[in-house]
Amino acid sequence: MRTTIRLLLAGIAVSALVSGRGVAVPPPEPRAIVSGDAIVIPVAGVAKAALRDDFDNIHSGHPHHAIDILAPRGTPVLAAVDGTIRKLFESRAGGLTIYEFDVATERSYYYAHLDAYASNVVEGMRVKQGDVIGYVGTTGNAPPETPHLHFAITLLPPSKAWSKGEAIDPYPILVARGVTWDR
Ligand SMILES: [Zn+2]
Repeated sequence: MRTTIRLLLAGIAVSALVSGRGVAVPPPEPRAIVSGDAIVIPVAGVAKAALRDDFDNIHSGHPHHAIDILAPRGTPVLAAVDGTIRKLFESRAGGLTIYEFDVATERSYYYAHLDAYASNVVEGMRVKQGDVIGYVGTTGNAPPETPHLHFAITLLPPSKAWSKGEAIDPYPILVARGVTWDR
């Protein structure tokens, strides 16, 4: 019995040494590190592996031209990039939606079917990557039992009209440069 206890204590002493001054222990990492061209996966806690490319699917007779990111109702929706909240818009199909322009006003990021906007979000507001801008829901034509974020990216036309532009597939962008952001 005594021997066992002494061995246990010796073990504790060794691990204390290893985790102490002797060995360089890296400092805890910041919650997320976002490099210049990274994009935040716009639903909190969603990993790349959970994404599906349904950009070319036909939904209600139209090309989808977006991806649907499934998540429980109320999951925070995050700004994918630094930019400006250009428009808060409610439409029959999209429900509660947000159009965010990037800092260079080259691309628009569209977030739809929101359950609610984040309480502080207003048009013209600057946002940083990872800021909570809304919550996953089923407003518009989303099936009530399948809450998801409908997420689209468009290349803005010269007019910079918030609802115009050429849709590009978010899936390969999120897979190549996406960062999962936990909340
Ligand atoms: Zn969709």
